[in-house]
Amino acid sequence: MNKLLEIKDLHVSYGGIQALKGISLEVDEGEIISIIGANGAGKSTMLNALSRQIKIEKGEILFNGAALPSQAHQVVQAGIVQVPEGRQIFANLTVRGNLEIGAYLRKDKEGIEKDIAYIFSVFPRLQERQSQYGGSLSGGEQQMLAIGRGLLSKPKLMLLDEPSLGLAPMLVEEIFNVIKKINDEGTTILLVEQNAQKALTVAHRGYVLETGKIIKTGHGLQLLNDPKVQEAYLGVKIE
Ligand code: ATP
Repeated sequence: MNKLLEIKDLHVSYGGIQALKGISLEVDEGEIISIIGANGAGKSTMLNALSRQIKIEKGEILFNGAALPSQAHQVVQAGIVQVPEGRQIFANLTVRGNLEIGAYLRKDKEGIEKDIAYIFSVFPRLQERQSQYGGSLSGGEQQMLAIGRGLLSKPKLMLLDEPSLGLAPMLVEEIFNVIKKINDEGTTILLVEQNAQKALTVAHRGYVLETGKIIKTGHGLQLLNDPKVQEAYLGVKIE
């Protein structure tokens, strides 16, 4: 297996607050890796550090065996795209306009059209609503649009920040099915989620993040069956 991402001893602080206290993890090409953790554990901080939206204090990040570039746009160019928490789509642009923004670093017009057609095949609802403003979409549709926009940069690695947040159960199911499909078709996924059940079910491997530290790692099912994970993240009462 080719190591796509290696994070070694990553530290991030906000002023005096240490949000990440020495995180190390690896993502192999083709995997879905889920990071689970409670509110404030440092999940978004980790993804924002990877996409170079925030500065790291200490540590090393390798992507495809080379040092990760230091600027956000270079990271996208290298093949990493982040689908942010809260989706952050453009309310005043159409669905199609939002998708086209995802391809802003590409020049291959035909390829972009082909990829938009592919995204419409994955998300038929976006096709039906392609001329509608982003702001008029439901939460689930906005999440689909954010994922579609991310795919348009043709990433090798997609970072997904809480894709199921605020969605009705049926839509949560749909979003996780889409994540699996995208992965089956060749995109490696690093997912952070509070919905540990779903995230670990879909993952090849997972990591448990607690107050800025990785406290456990294992195969998705192994973590799902771990009594400590069950008690802390799956609401299972251990007698
Ligand atoms: P959530 O699921 O609630 O988004 P999270 O696991 O993604 O949680 P982070 O948002 O990464 O957690 O936050 C980790 C820690 O860093 C928390 O203690 C948080 O209060 C702090 N933090 C996050 N962003 C900032 C910021 N911009 N300034 C100061 N502290 C921050």
